[in-house]
Amino acid sequence: MKPRLSITLLVVLALLFVGPAGWSDVRYEVDPPDILGYKTLKCDFHMHTVFSDGEVWPPVRVEEAWREGLDAISITDHIEIKPHEDVAGDHNRPYDLAVRAAKASNIVLVRGTEITRDTPPGHFNAIFLSDNRPLDEEDFLKAVEAANRQRGFVFYNHPRPRWYDVHTKMLENGWLHGVEVVNGGTYYPHAHRWCLEKGLTMMGTSDIHDPAPRRRTTPENHRTMTLVFTKDSSLKALKEALFEGRTAIWHADQLIGSRKYLEAIFKAGVQIGVPHYRDDDEEAVWVEARNDLPIDVRLERAGDYGPRNITLSAKATTMLEIDIDGGQEQAELKYVAGNFLIGPEEGLPLTLTVPSR
Ligand SMILES: [Zn+2]
Ligand SMILES: [Zn+2]
Repeated sequence: MKPRLSITLLVVLALLFVGPAGWSDVRYEVDPPDILGYKTLKCDFHMHTVFSDGEVWPPVRVEEAWREGLDAISITDHIEIKPHEDVAGDHNRPYDLAVRAAKASNIVLVRGTEITRDTPPGHFNAIFLSDNRPLDEEDFLKAVEAANRQRGFVFYNHPRPRWYDVHTKMLENGWLHGVEVVNGGTYYPHAHRWCLEKGLTMMGTSDIHDPAPRRRTTPENHRTMTLVFTKDSSLKALKEALFEGRTAIWHADQLIGSRKYLEAIFKAGVQIGVPHYRDDDEEAVWVEARNDLPIDVRLERAGDYGPRNITLSAKATTMLEIDIDGGQEQAELKYVAGNFLIGPEEGLPLTLTVPSR
């Protein structure tokens, strides 16, 4: 019996020395392309810990973000909802506890919090703050003003479909800068429209409360995130990009954003090759289309040429057979990318040029 016991003891000791939960885990890289001279950062600016109604300790959020391929996060615990009576510490404590883990894992951590009221006005995140405590105000607009006094970026969370006077007032004061177009698994077409109409920054967040599942990040299965197009990876550049509205959202199998950014992502990630075979009797050419994006591109024909529907699978090459007229130098194929949303129910229009000789 004795040797056996020591073996058990050794195993237990060995497990103890592996260290804090899974820090040796792998990071699943998400690699949307850099576009228009900007760096593309993968961000989630809405999540909770035990310091409000979340279920994890703050540094765990950093570890999860690293595993899921993110570059920047904000822990945004509610100012007003603190159900865990055992957890002490002021509104800055979640950030202060997570900041060392963020530095160690090369994640940009943005100080933030959630201002929480019934709708109207609703819930709002304020990020890029230097101190969360002054937002602990009875009066909603005073809390928003306190965030803006610190030059915080304020966005409207999981919005109901109605725009109220208080939102107009915030906008007129320059106190509202973005809206969640996607929160977790939910897409809000009305929020998408507001962003386009009012020049607000499009945000996509997880609003995660539970521990993040351990899973591989894939085109179908991943955290909702905001892609931010920045000059560099600094906090300053990130903030500037958000205030200037340089974002897109990756949600489920969709990209959501303005036409300019989605078009740039498509062009940077998808290459249509030169036809490698031409059959003059059949009047057809064969060409390969390569998609380096981490997301499938679903194309629907909008013109006269090309297959009716094409799915360019993520990280894959798709073979296309395209009918052409005899003697035609090149085919201009008109398509709409149905899962690249530039407006509610509006896909990105594209022209694919295929040389035929
Ligand atoms: Zn909320
Ligand atoms: Zn929340």
